[in-house]
Amino acid sequence: MSAVRTTCAYCGVGCGIVAQPGEGRALTIKGDKEHPANFGRLCSKGTWLGETVGLEGRLLHPMIGERRAGWDEALDLVAKRMGDCIAQHGPESVAFYVSGQLLTEDYYIANKLLKGFVGTANIDTNSRLCMASAVAAHNRAFGEDVVPGTYEDLEAADLILLVGSNTAWCHPVIWQRIEAAREAHGAKLVVIDPRRTETAERADLHVPVAPDGDIALFNALLAEMRDRGLLDLGFMDAHCELPVDFLADLSAQDHGVDPDVFARLAELVAANRRMVTLFSQGANQSVCGTDKGNAVINLHLATGRINRTGAGPFSMTGQPNAMGGREVGGLANMLACHLGFSDEERASVTRFWNAPALCAEPGLKAVDMFRAVHDGRIRFIWVMGTNPAVSMPDAGFVREALDRCETVVVSEVIAETDTAKLADIRLPAMGWGEKDGTVTNSERMISRQRTLMSPAGEARADWRIMCDVARRLGYGGFDFDHPGMIFAEYAAMTQLSVDHGKMLDLTAWACCSIEDYDAMTPFRWGGEHPLQGGFSHADGKARIVAVDAPKAAAVDPDFPLRLNTGRYRDQWHTMTRTGLSAKLSIHRREPLVEVHPADADRFGLSDGGFAQVGTRWGASVYRVAVSDGQRSGEIFVPMHWTDLTGKGRTGKLVHPATDPVSGQPGFKNVSATIAPV
Ligand code: SF4
Repeated sequence: MSAVRTTCAYCGVGCGIVAQPGEGRALTIKGDKEHPANFGRLCSKGTWLGETVGLEGRLLHPMIGERRAGWDEALDLVAKRMGDCIAQHGPESVAFYVSGQLLTEDYYIANKLLKGFVGTANIDTNSRLCMASAVAAHNRAFGEDVVPGTYEDLEAADLILLVGSNTAWCHPVIWQRIEAAREAHGAKLVVIDPRRTETAERADLHVPVAPDGDIALFNALLAEMRDRGLLDLGFMDAHCELPVDFLADLSAQDHGVDPDVFARLAELVAANRRMVTLFSQGANQSVCGTDKGNAVINLHLATGRINRTGAGPFSMTGQPNAMGGREVGGLANMLACHLGFSDEERASVTRFWNAPALCAEPGLKAVDMFRAVHDGRIRFIWVMGTNPAVSMPDAGFVREALDRCETVVVSEVIAETDTAKLADIRLPAMGWGEKDGTVTNSERMISRQRTLMSPAGEARADWRIMCDVARRLGYGGFDFDHPGMIFAEYAAMTQLSVDHGKMLDLTAWACCSIEDYDAMTPFRWGGEHPLQGGFSHADGKARIVAVDAPKAAAVDPDFPLRLNTGRYRDQWHTMTRTGLSAKLSIHRREPLVEVHPADADRFGLSDGGFAQVGTRWGASVYRVAVSDGQRSGEIFVPMHWTDLTGKGRTGKLVHPATDPVSGQPGFKNVSATIAPV
């Protein structure tokens, strides 16, 4: 087989790859020099993709309990359980929990099936844990979930602010592009993060903001720009609506940053109009994540630093297809193609899908969905390509919920994830390199993932599995035989986005043939600055949203520390794939709790020893790494380890508190304690 151009399986950078299949399932991976996301660059995870596509641990056959079953028997049972549940308990008793690992075509079918035909919007995605607050902030500010810039803006900027992003580890190819731009034209880099991460070490300025201090910090910057006369009054007058007196009334708020550091930051912001602010999970994974996003966007709108080369707020997504998922409606609070639940929008979607039972209102977001599973309101849940028994906050509760649910169906590539172990029916899904479809990266670029090898065992594409179940339930509109047919239908559906004044427009692909689809090269919908011609609110103006810093929570004497969580450079999610690679395991072999030296003394911890981290939700053991990169009073743990991989079960520790607008959980600021073991 000749080399195949495809897209990396992991993060939202969306790097192009040239994969050369060899003997058996061997793969040689190179960066695709022609792909505009990476121009040939790769990080360690992309480079070693070939180590993670073997058959070790794969789910090869449909399983009913511990018994191997045929596809027909398994699909009949899924359809019967789902149909019975709908008939006896109504559509709201059914839910799908899906993943940013799914391809856009999979996501499209899942949404169409549940929202259009079953009649519930109880479909949410693990992207809720990743970037739902950025979506909500975009919707509030722009009237649509649009990222207003590109990676090229990062390279053209004179000043880059990274907010809550350890870019060097979490989006390494973006980091490489930033580093190259700094070298080429001396762009300044500021990292706003409570931790002195590897990224912060390399910055011109590290701003160690207090946990959830970002809103106060950006409001303070906005006040500073106002006081220096640097607001762009002309831009605001022409393009923005804002609350009366919001800007005039802004005053200094406590952000926990040393005044000298703040002064240096303000100087850089004042001096550099070409400024991009990249914000990521450190901002989003917060109980005030939406307000943080709007605080960032406010600064750009008020200073006119948006919709132009080298300037804009930029949300960096975590997963390879978080963007594609939200475009087709993968979140419970949207329909599809950026449409909401107004009567007009619902009527358009009903007509397009010929939907017999379009859902009337938004469904349950992830945390509430698992609460409903726990208390029996949801009796049938289908989990696809994700491991919520580990990755959700209060993961012990989620495990209990799945354990008591009447029917749990899991579509997976891996046989024995923590979640798959709780399933009644397991369906083998095609993995990366086997499946075929599209993904959208953080800058709205759509790329193809392509088939490189035969499916493992009897694995099938997620879209095909769902279409087979839909037909068994008697629903029309699911007679697809190729992902290109699904993409063409989705592209045609984006006419509804255009009709309702939105930007998401793929109508040029509405009549694409399978040959066109197979020949697709990466393209960015909306061009470079899609909001340049006006924002998506009815009046064409953006909204500056009045946001206020949250009140500092009282210190809980039993849990006096602030727990922060995040990822390691070479691991991905719950390590079901990256854990298979010996090379990727070298970087960090075990989960560490990073502790400031003063806290190590205070709690009697020694570097290299073990400690138990506890919160009101659970406890888990980690090896101690004493580090002055932590702020005193704050500790950091990684997110990847599971019950199956041993200690370091971080999901168990995290509170299930969520942002009131976006429903995104707050993984970054949890009351905790620590003790040696
Ligand atoms: Fe893959 Fe992300 Fe690394 Fe690119 S930066 S190779 S998309 S993991």
